Amino acid sequence: MLFIPTVIKNLLKKPVTRLYPADVREPFPNYRGELVMAIDDCIFCGICARKCPSQCIDVDKTKATWQCDPHACVYCGVCVDVCPTKCLSMKDVHRAPMTEKITWIEQGTPPKPKKKVAAPKAGDKEEKKPAIEKEAAPKTKADKK
Ligand code: SF4
Ligand code: SF4
Repeated sequence: MLFIPTVIKNLLKKPVTRLYPADVREPFPNYRGELVMAIDDCIFCGICARKCPSQCIDVDKTKATWQCDPHACVYCGVCVDVCPTKCLSMKDVHRAPMTEKITWIEQGTPPKPKKKVAAPKAGDKEEKKPAIEKEAAPKTKADKK
């Protein structure tokens, strides 16, 4: 009969669990819930793809596409930390369940090709080089006399 006080105590105290899904716990601040991409700020440098530990990001600079396999992502946040333009971020929400396998593709604007600098022609005048002033030679003992 030693257990009776414990049973009574457990019957009277509030349950430690929640009535999920009726009572959903609010995520903690900085919770890595959902990866968010602002494609307009992406420069397609590919650092996120190189640093991603699960290799689930693919960046194509020529086509201006950024794609991710959300099923392989472990939501570690490395890509967010290394992105130089901060176009990747984490949202502190619980991710919704998925019913089918998808590939998340973002289409951006292809970067403008760099202007080629025309090579100087044979007939062009050579640029004048700045005249280098000759430094005065250090005086020897003989000069001082
Ligand atoms: S690191 Fe950022 S800017 Fe670079 S490709 Fe990834 S998302 Fe785009
Ligand atoms: S959160 Fe981690 S696993 Fe997911 S895409 Fe970014 S670096 Fe890769």
